[in-house]
Amino acid sequence: MAAPVEENTATAPEMSRQPSAHDLDVLSRQLGRPVRDVVEIPARCICGNPLVAATAPRLGNGTPFPTTFYLTHPVITSAVSRLEAAGVMNDMNGRLAADETLAAAYRSAHEDYLAARAAIGERSGIGAVPEIDGISAGGMPARVKCLHVLVGHSLAAGPGVNPLGDEAIAAISEWWTAERCYCDGAWDTAGEAPSRDLSRHGPQGLPEIVGRPAPVRKAAGTAGAGL
Ligand SMILES: [Zn+2]
Repeated sequence: MAAPVEENTATAPEMSRQPSAHDLDVLSRQLGRPVRDVVEIPARCICGNPLVAATAPRLGNGTPFPTTFYLTHPVITSAVSRLEAAGVMNDMNGRLAADETLAAAYRSAHEDYLAARAAIGERSGIGAVPEIDGISAGGMPARVKCLHVLVGHSLAAGPGVNPLGDEAIAAISEWWTAERCYCDGAWDTAGEAPSRDLSRHGPQGLPEIVGRPAPVRKAAGTAGAGL
């Protein structure tokens, strides 16, 4: 095993949602940068390692933050990047425009995203963040702009909530499925977890979705789009 395995207490999902110090260490290794403002682990590998991190709807520095679910597992993020590179989002956008049933289900996914974020804000003591009312992520409710966001949402919400996230999960089954652990060798487990940003531009649109760049880091040309 590449990473220490933590037993998941299947009887206490609320407990397993809480990020442990070990979870935060694993997240930093998965992403190649320190993480901040992670308030829950909404989806885990069968071995217990995080698959998705939930970021607070308002960051510690006060910034409203709409992108709640961030896919962190490198095996899944690269598999989803392959789908994006293959043009899957164009196909989905075409179908959203043509298929009213799909479009309605996708709008419901957007509503679920907002409700899940509000619940996370409440559980984490942050409360309502009116600046981002009605704003979800990934292109929802009408477009697909980032498949990683949709897959992160589907993994967090479970099947049957985000139809296009579910489709993307089915489409990566040759590289990742929920029934197996793909953690061994998927990230560097030697030495200290990254204390500054060693990653290239993140795959999910914004480089600082999980935590802002570390203050020690000089702008490396990837400061990104901001919010
Ligand atoms: Zn695993």
